[in-house]
Amino acid sequence: DAGAAELLKVDQALMQFGGLKALAGVDLTVKPGTIHGLIGPNGSGKSTMMNVLTGIYKPTAGSVTLAVAGGKRLDGRTPSEIALSGVARTFQNVQLFREMTALENVLVGLHHTFKGTLFDAILGTPRRRREEREARARAMAILDFMGLHALAQTEARNLPYGKQRLLEIGRALALDPVLLLLDEPAAGLTAPDIADLVAIIRKIRDAGITVILIEHHMDVVMGLCDRVSVLDFGHKIAEGGAREVQADPKVIEAYLGA
Ligand code: ADP
Ligand code: MG
Repeated sequence: DAGAAELLKVDQALMQFGGLKALAGVDLTVKPGTIHGLIGPNGSGKSTMMNVLTGIYKPTAGSVTLAVAGGKRLDGRTPSEIALSGVARTFQNVQLFREMTALENVLVGLHHTFKGTLFDAILGTPRRRREEREARARAMAILDFMGLHALAQTEARNLPYGKQRLLEIGRALALDPVLLLLDEPAAGLTAPDIADLVAIIRKIRDAGITVILIEHHMDVVMGLCDRVSVLDFGHKIAEGGAREVQADPKVIEAYLGA
């Protein structure tokens, strides 16, 4: 049925800043279990789309629907409501708690799993201590998944840049998302770090998490994405398989004209 065919459906998303249409009525459909690329020249509206999807920006018009529990409208909800609906993200610039360890950064992402009352937290009841033990074990499992196990006790600011980017993704995974949004995760990484990142993104998809990937490195897009949408000046100008899109004259022109 149509419900199973798409995890996310964006219908005519319009995001206006004064006279500028950062998104000029964009449709986007993402199938479950896929890595969906979102590409386009600088300023084409990619990060704006992420911000609309995660509630940081409220779209001027249009709708965003997540196909959980029969279809849940995300537009108009707060970022934390959207996160709890199963949509996690990383930012274009690394946003970690720099003075906290890698483990503590992931534990922050697990905060929502604490069900106890304020009373439990203040008094350190057995329930609270059990929840903390469970959260720690889960955080270590996530660090393990990300290949960061040995760096659990290292402060985020002392991690090499490539590891910081992986830790951010790990913290997003702590939300147990159905959909993970990555905004230029390979930016500024060395070639070996990019290879690690690509392997991990593939592992995340294989674990059943749908991914939307904004990326400038075309080899990363070509290697990972099941489907690609191309934005230019707030309009979707092409969509299809990675190879098909890369050969599209409209896409080549958009990049050359930038
Ligand atoms: P991309 O991520 O594709 O490089 P953005 O989505 O960041 O592009 O930006 C798209 C356009 O929207 C740009 O012209 C940018 O300056 C503008 N824009 C984004 N956010 C804001 C904002 N909060 N206020 C005003 N203009 C914005
Ligand atoms: Mg951007």
